[in-house]
Amino acid sequence: MPIQKAAVIGAGIGGLTTAIGLRQAGVDVRVYERRTEPSRLLTGGGFMLWHNVFVALRKLALDEQVSKVGSEIVFHEFRSDRGRRLARWAIAPESRRIGAPAVALRRSDLNALLLEEAGDAVVMGAQCVGFEQDADGVTVRFADGSTDRADVLVGADGMRSAVRSTLRRGHDMAPRYAGYTAWQAIAELPGEDVVPSGTFFNLWGRGGLRFLYCRLNEQEVYWDAITSDRASAAFDMFRKDKRAVMCETYDDWPGPVPQILAATRDEAILPIDIADRPPDREPAWGHGRVVLVGDAAHPMTLNLSQGAGQAIEDGVVLSGLLAEGPDVGAGLAAYERVRRERVDAMVRGAYRIGELGKLSGPLACRARDAFMWAVFGTFAKKGTYRLMMNFDH
Ligand SMILES: Cc1cc2nc3c(=O)[nH]c(=O)nc-3n(C[C@H](O)[C@H](O)[C@H](O)COP(=O)(O)OP(=O)(O)OC[C@H]3O[C@@H](n4cnc5c(N)ncnc54)[C@H](O)[C@@H]3O)c2cc1C
Repeated sequence: MPIQKAAVIGAGIGGLTTAIGLRQAGVDVRVYERRTEPSRLLTGGGFMLWHNVFVALRKLALDEQVSKVGSEIVFHEFRSDRGRRLARWAIAPESRRIGAPAVALRRSDLNALLLEEAGDAVVMGAQCVGFEQDADGVTVRFADGSTDRADVLVGADGMRSAVRSTLRRGHDMAPRYAGYTAWQAIAELPGEDVVPSGTFFNLWGRGGLRFLYCRLNEQEVYWDAITSDRASAAFDMFRKDKRAVMCETYDDWPGPVPQILAATRDEAILPIDIADRPPDREPAWGHGRVVLVGDAAHPMTLNLSQGAGQAIEDGVVLSGLLAEGPDVGAGLAAYERVRRERVDAMVRGAYRIGELGKLSGPLACRARDAFMWAVFGTFAKKGTYRLMMNFDH
């Protein structure tokens, strides 16, 4: 029998997309979110969504709305920490060929749009602490002692998912720390002359440092500074002022990096230790009537800008297959069959890029610059597009 009622845990990008898809298919769905206020979901820095995400969102008739809240990317440029251009990808022709854009946007704008679309399906202040399943359904348990019963349970509760740990009966591996920290923020920096719109800049430096930035709108620029352990350890132990740590770490980098940091408020900076889960050690994403999506299933490092993109693809595919039937078991088996290979390749690819970014010494970095100059504009671009567009919803 096709499903009638679904419970989704987590009102992040993956959970909301899944719920919107199920709702559009006529399924009675509730999204349970542990945070108490919707405003607590509207946080975070900037974000890239690539073409594949808009192809997926078209299935839910959300592609145009989402692209409108962001700023379209027309070039993706790689540079060294001396300002030397290593490669430049023309994105606009790819957008025309694929029929979908690549867009930089505020994470909070995407969350707000998805929250509004999910409407009264979202229940705030509901922390899932576990579940029990039987042949007829799943009973979800919450921290306040309440329960809910559904035909299927979707764990979209992020990297440290409660649904995942119940599914693994306490025998889950910890996420793998990638060896670097991303410090992300949005800076108030008007002026096309400092940071022009339309280009996603990706600077690779010595000492395991990188700096990514992109204009979001006329006023704001988002950035991610990726540092080796040392900078975040220095922050943890001795320093309170994150902006001072960033300015010191990047003081000899070319413009506009120092200007961007100078234009950022200290409170706006959020350091996040980057982690993933190696796909080779990963058991099935679900069992019985319970399944995982997004970071709960397959957290990946940020290097391909695809973590949220893959959470969105998960939600679109899973909701479509569950609505199609014939039953929960068939839908969940098809979901993993369709998604697993593609997502595993993304997790591995993103991890490999991160390893390249960790190179530290001047000689190794010079060799890496030469390698990037030789292959990033051609083979690396082709390979990335092949990986990104290799799907069939
Ligand atoms: C620095 C950085 C930059 C990134 N840049 C990009 C990018 O440019 N493009 C891109 O596509 N991806 C990017 N990502 C990846 C992206 O942020 C994640 O992959 C994505 O947010 C995962 O979404 P999710 O819905 O699976 O999980 P989450 O966003 O983690 O959402 C999980 C939700 O579940 C809730 N929750 C948790 N536990 C419970 C519980 N027990 N009960 C109820 N609710 C619960 C949480 O409060 C949260 O709201 C980046 C990540 C980082 C760290």
